Amino acid sequence: MSKVCAIFGGSRGIGKAVATRFAQDGHKIAVVSRNKEAVDRTIQELVEGGLKGPHLGVSCDVSDEKRVHATVKSIQDTLGPVDILVNAAGVNKDVLLLKTQAADMTSLLQTNLVGPMLTCRAVVRSMVQRRTGTIINVGSIVGMKGNPGQCVYSASKAGLQGFTKSLAKEVASRGVRVNLIVPGFIDTDMTSGVSEAVVTQSVPLQRLGTPAEVATAVRFLAYSTYITGTVLVVDGGMQLNT
Ligand code: NDP
Repeated sequence: MSKVCAIFGGSRGIGKAVATRFAQDGHKIAVVSRNKEAVDRTIQELVEGGLKGPHLGVSCDVSDEKRVHATVKSIQDTLGPVDILVNAAGVNKDVLLLKTQAADMTSLLQTNLVGPMLTCRAVVRSMVQRRTGTIINVGSIVGMKGNPGQCVYSASKAGLQGFTKSLAKEVASRGVRVNLIVPGFIDTDMTSGVSEAVVTQSVPLQRLGTPAEVATAVRFLAYSTYITGTVLVVDGGMQLNT
């Protein structure tokens, strides 16, 4: 049955691959990110790739409470209540803590941690009332292992893990599931500065993952009706290394 999928951060990278996968499955797709041109381009590509059903592209900064609320409302009014929410919007800025400005800490946490909290809050009431729905948040392997230069980023992703598990407990009795995908190094704009040497050294599978490989795992969690509060690592084995 066709579901309504809202993908925040769906214009590029992992989110775009998730949107593509769900479009192939015949679902109704809402792609959300800040850059409207990028959103429209992605929607156009999905249509050219065979997306036939209703769809929507919305420009929204996930850290803006009012915009998130308005975005979820417009998705609901156009496509119907959200059945599958994917939180893939995220930013990173590699810098040592000693050189990190307080404003940059706040801004990163607003996007990577408060953002998913806002989107989850915006959809979860309807999910609870309808006794159905699933949320997949996108964390990071550095939220589990830590990484120099990524103190704030890894804190945001570790926070997202705690948030995901707590929300999973809050809504499980209402049939709503909440899970976390934890990617390692994935080949997107975010990892354009990662050298081959770093990949070879830190990834047992000796290569970057593809956005499509993460999308496969997101799809698995979306359809796995007996899984909630779990953390699914998609990292080419990085977690095996100390
Ligand atoms: P990209 O930079 O390729 O894509 C990020 C997406 O998030 C874009 O669609 C971007 O669109 C959107 N976005 C960024 N900030 C905001 C915002 N404030 N409001 C709304 N949308 C926003 O990154 P990835 O696809 O690589 O990353 C996706 C997620 O996966 C992120 O949460 C990232 O932290 C996580 N991750 C990525 C890894 C990797 O190796 N690539 C590893 C581990 C985790 P726009 O700029 O138009 O807003």
